[in-house]
Amino acid sequence: MTFDQLNLLPLILKAVHEEGYEKPTPIQAQAIPELLKGKDLLGCAQTGTGKTAAFAIPILQILTNAEKEVGRKKIKSLILTPTRELAIQIDESFKAYGRHLKLVSTVIFGGVPQGAQTQALQRGTDILIATPGRLLDLIQQGFVKLSDLRIFVLDEADRMLDMGFVHDVKKVIALLPAKRQSLFFSATMPGEIQTLANTILTQPVMVEVTPFRPLLKN
Ligand code: AMP
Repeated sequence: MTFDQLNLLPLILKAVHEEGYEKPTPIQAQAIPELLKGKDLLGCAQTGTGKTAAFAIPILQILTNAEKEVGRKKIKSLILTPTRELAIQIDESFKAYGRHLKLVSTVIFGGVPQGAQTQALQRGTDILIATPGRLLDLIQQGFVKLSDLRIFVLDEADRMLDMGFVHDVKKVIALLPAKRQSLFFSATMPGEIQTLANTILTQPVMVEVTPFRPLLKN
């Protein structure tokens, strides 16, 4: 399998080649075609598997194709992730794979003043990457509207649970439009996580992978 076989837009393929990626990782090869068809996805995968590109690339493609329907700089995709570090990395990935596209991505997280983040939101964004607490704060203050949302990603669901964010996550999910594509990633799938996945996903495709590079042990 090569990236050329995935039916990607030429401008996305160009960016992927510029990243130096030679071929899709297993999760990318399995997930990208299904996501481009509009399917929901349950991914059992940890960081190091290439899962960020597995969702960022199809989201960029779907939103580029849907641009005329929804209009630009409205939040069409939300990625919820537990930590500031992951949020920043995911935003960097969207900016890298989308560097030849017109889509805008914005990242918001807690622990820092909100001014720069609210200014970015007021300029408008197509893709929002967020940690749960700051997202709820900015929704309550009226800086974030989710009524145009098309694609929702819950990243690292098991860590969300471990970090005590599950209540916030459920509050966010209650605010999403019912008609949407949903993606759910977790490294482990204990019962509580499966129950949460069931409330979010509709007839999901399941993808399970192990890291494509062995994680370093010290
Ligand atoms: P992730 O699991 O999304 O955190 O990705 C782990 C690392 O793999 C990141 O540094 C990516 O840039 C890199 N990566 C993702 N996809 C590929 C690919 N197809 N080929 C080579 N490296 C990749």
